Amino acid sequence: MKTIVIGAGILGLTAAYSLTERGHEVVLLEKEAPFAGASHRSFAWLNANNKFPESYYRINREGLEEHKHLQAHLPSDRTWLHPSGNLLVDFGETRPDTYAKRVRDADGMGYPVETVDRARLRELEPTVQWPDELDEALFYPEESWLDNDVLGEELLRVLADRGVEPRIAEVVRIDSDESGARVELSDGSRIAADSVVVATGSWSRELAAASGMFIPVADLAEQSTRTHSLLGLTKPVDIPLQRIIISDRVNVRPRHDGRMWVQVARIEERVAEGEDPQMLAEVAAVMEQELESLFGRPVAMEKVIYSGRSFPEDGHSIVGFLDEARKVYAVVTHSGMTLGPLFGRLTVEELEGRESALLADFRPSRFSGGAVESADFDYFIGRQ
Ligand SMILES: Cc1cc2nc3c(=O)[nH]c(=O)nc-3n(C[C@H](O)[C@H](O)[C@H](O)COP(=O)(O)OP(=O)(O)OC[C@H]3O[C@@H](n4cnc5c(N)ncnc54)[C@H](O)[C@@H]3O)c2cc1C
Repeated sequence: MKTIVIGAGILGLTAAYSLTERGHEVVLLEKEAPFAGASHRSFAWLNANNKFPESYYRINREGLEEHKHLQAHLPSDRTWLHPSGNLLVDFGETRPDTYAKRVRDADGMGYPVETVDRARLRELEPTVQWPDELDEALFYPEESWLDNDVLGEELLRVLADRGVEPRIAEVVRIDSDESGARVELSDGSRIAADSVVVATGSWSRELAAASGMFIPVADLAEQSTRTHSLLGLTKPVDIPLQRIIISDRVNVRPRHDGRMWVQVARIEERVAEGEDPQMLAEVAAVMEQELESLFGRPVAMEKVIYSGRSFPEDGHSIVGFLDEARKVYAVVTHSGMTLGPLFGRLTVEELEGRESALLADFRPSRFSGGAVESADFDYFIGRQ
């Protein structure tokens, strides 16, 4: 089977990788550069935490397992998956209620979570200056942080070894019939294949519309917490943080190069101001304050990125065939870092004709009535 994959973000690369694993021919088209979109500016916390309904939890949980498989089987000596767990902390007065609800929700799904006392908290993350009044936190042992840029590089390297190099070209239209699918590029040329995978993130709505199809992803022109996030990157620091910390004050996680990714929930609403340098500088200052209070020493920010999400209007993944001929397959989602390797494998299985029950709730056909209910992005204490 010859497949055109449009988009070289995490979802396009994992689909291309899985296709070549199964011996299929791949043409990978990318309009700007690999990882030019959301995939290079992602917090990349792999989790099934606080994800509802059960079917959405289930795919995210399977997503965690698929990452372990990919780390073990991709021919590479580099490490991108860091399964060191996540500490969820409520520093405020709502702590007992937050923890009770989160434990109840996790238990209801069978998702591992432990309540940890101060001594254990210090043991798990001795580098943090935990305040005296913080008596407990929650520890999610199955969660990981992902060096997304390392994974991207390794997927590209393995694809190149298999003869697949991303071609820089913008697709402007897709069409299909029983005989196969074709894409038209911005220079007017056309490429034909047996099938097309649309992995174009937040650009998917536009491309689908030009092709007479429908992928309702929130429009980046909206500038809300559904569509954007303020993602901070520190300068390299000598702080041996091991785990992800998700809290009501600051979210922080390490990276392979000594930098840390940072988010501060209470200032996320400033995305409504647009990509304003003054606002980004003020956000960086707030992040520095939060990090100093967490680590008891100054941590300098390198930059704050005004980062666009690819957020399906109803908040849930859009995975499956878009056309009657079943030649054009969409794979568009938020939580794409968690879901990428799983969706890559399932995309190939479905293109080969093996339908996955896991994806039943996430079909593009759920929007066929035209009306789409927009979901809010409930940001407090981590939902990525
Ligand atoms: C701030 C932030 C934090 C996040 N945190 C997490 C997290 O903690 N955990 C998690 O699991 N997920 C997280 N996510 C979500 C995750 O990063 C995304 O779901 C994922 O990166 C989407 O990948 P993608 O491949 O679909 O899209 P993208 O990475 O955006 O890639 C799409 C690619 O398609 C290309 N393209 C678009 N149109 C065309 C065209 N017409 N022709 C050719 N090429 C085209 C683009 O140039 C781009 O390279 C976060 C996202 C953001 C923004």
